[in-house]
Amino acid sequence: MAQARTDIGPPLYKEMLPPIIKENYGKWRYHEIVKPGVLVHVSETGAKLYTVRAGSPRLISIYFIREICELADQYCDGFLRFTSRHNVEFLLSDESKIDPLITDLKKMGIPVGGTGNSITNIVHTQGWVHCHTPATDASGIVKAVMDELFEYFTTMKLPAKMRIALACCLNMCGAVHCSDIAILGIHRTVPKIDHENISKLCEIPTLTASCPTAAIRPNPKLKSVDIKAERCMYCGNCYTMCPSVQIIDAKNDAVSIWVGGKISNSRIGPRFSRLAIPFLPNNPPRWPEVVDAVKNLVELWAANAEPGERMAEWIERISWEKFFELSGLPFTDKHIDDFTLAQTTFRSTTQFKW
Ligand code: SF4
Ligand code: SF4
Repeated sequence: MAQARTDIGPPLYKEMLPPIIKENYGKWRYHEIVKPGVLVHVSETGAKLYTVRAGSPRLISIYFIREICELADQYCDGFLRFTSRHNVEFLLSDESKIDPLITDLKKMGIPVGGTGNSITNIVHTQGWVHCHTPATDASGIVKAVMDELFEYFTTMKLPAKMRIALACCLNMCGAVHCSDIAILGIHRTVPKIDHENISKLCEIPTLTASCPTAAIRPNPKLKSVDIKAERCMYCGNCYTMCPSVQIIDAKNDAVSIWVGGKISNSRIGPRFSRLAIPFLPNNPPRWPEVVDAVKNLVELWAANAEPGERMAEWIERISWEKFFELSGLPFTDKHIDDFTLAQTTFRSTTQFKW
């Protein structure tokens, strides 16, 4: 059936596939990592597709895009793709072009890696540049962390793959709920109400309906609203509806660290990330406390995990109690979500709590 053409959404992905992928669609038998940053996919027809994975700086200029497109023209008949983790993948059908491409990428200062037992680029949300509810920045903090972990991008010396994600608020439009290590910006104060302007800027019914915990009630006398502080979970949903309930608080907004999430079903089933560090200061431009914390967790896991064990699998084997003991991280009331079970174990907590 002919595809209707519309201006809604992206073009059909099949139109942009390299010929070798079109010809072998549904016939790929397996893939292997040839060396850090280089994959080969082998088809049942015998065809081989080589992928060279390069790290991008995530926020990129038009000049950077032009440069990588020129490389794609030179080495891969113009085909490349961006991964959801902001890596650039060059797709080659000619094996002899792999090393010259890598040499050219290195000349441009672009690293090749992020495959196998490595730390690939960090997936992150929008941060201060684009979104309106962030408690911290996204690309700035990720740059600071990745600068410190760079050697793990270009090598494969870790026990298993390590996926790190960042979301700048707990609505987390990133992947922090299921990452080996997650960096999560948190608000810690109730939104401040601008009673004077609220009726001019906002629809009160929409605003009250926006709160998932029913913390917001109309205040007809003031033509405004009240917020029940004890019900507020600092999600910032109300602020997305109404600029007169400001959630951002430069003094109190902070960063939390979560561990042990995964989406794969290998070895043990998928897991949500769980709270490890409830509070780190939001300290731009280089967030040294966050960088140290993430690096320490990576190194602790790398030193103690068995080959092939991801963060969740390692913690599952040694127990959460042992994880807190080994990491030296204090276990506090902020980690406890279920007060009934918490008397005997803190294994049940999946929720954020302040
Ligand atoms: Fe916006 Fe929150 Fe997503 Fe950050 S995580 S981009 S603040 S919705
Ligand atoms: Fe409700 Fe979230 Fe606003 Fe608090 S921050 S009042 S929980 S919508």
